[in-house]
Amino acid sequence: MSSSETAFTGICARIARAAAQHSAPARLLAVSKTKPAAAVRALAALGQRCFGENYVQEALAKQRELSDLALEWHLIGPLQSNKCREAAEHFDWLHSLDRLKLVAPLARWRPDVRGPLQVLIQVNIDDEAAKSGCSPSEIDALATAVAAQPALRLRGLMAIPAPHEDLALRRAAFARMRGLYDALRRDHPAVDTLSMGMSEDFELAIAEGATLVRIGSALFGARVSAA
Ligand SMILES: *Cc1c(COP(=O)(O)O)cnc(C)c1O
Repeated sequence: MSSSETAFTGICARIARAAAQHSAPARLLAVSKTKPAAAVRALAALGQRCFGENYVQEALAKQRELSDLALEWHLIGPLQSNKCREAAEHFDWLHSLDRLKLVAPLARWRPDVRGPLQVLIQVNIDDEAAKSGCSPSEIDALATAVAAQPALRLRGLMAIPAPHEDLALRRAAFARMRGLYDALRRDHPAVDTLSMGMSEDFELAIAEGATLVRIGSALFGARVSAA
């Protein structure tokens, strides 16, 4: 087996094991930022279909190189208002909606032929100054605004907890996200996605109810730049 195959098989097995223990399925989003299109192609050949990117321009270049493959692209990096058009035109999912003023431009630019953009609201669950995401108290208004747009489909929440060394603190943040997610589902029953957990902590996230884990370095190897 190639090293990418070994990593992929191992991660899939760990996700399945964690999900089985918590009796809920979890999907893998392969985070390919800073990695070449060839690395995405290699994983696609093993059956992975969903890929996450942080930077719009980098993602568009890879999408062009991989246009022969039927992949699902998720934008997971912070979204600037001047990138709403490209986000709406070129991605299947957006994980980082965190303010009301992005909702109308995303809906306006979403091409009809692509169907609705699948939207997650990013929550700044540890209230970190430098991190994107809305505060928990803003989720309701954002969810209502997304739900009112036929060009957008509200699918759930996303978070990146503070990188505490103490894993119990990370787990507590995941648990708080789960509470917010359950509350959101009471008002929006179609919501089905809780995106949380990365290479270092995805099993804890699944234990607290993650349905989609975003994994980069454990699949593709460490990133050279600090992206
Ligand atoms: C980079 C990134 C990931 C993947 O991080 P790893 O630790 O390499 O698994 C997941 N989510 C977001 C939002 C990221 O920016």
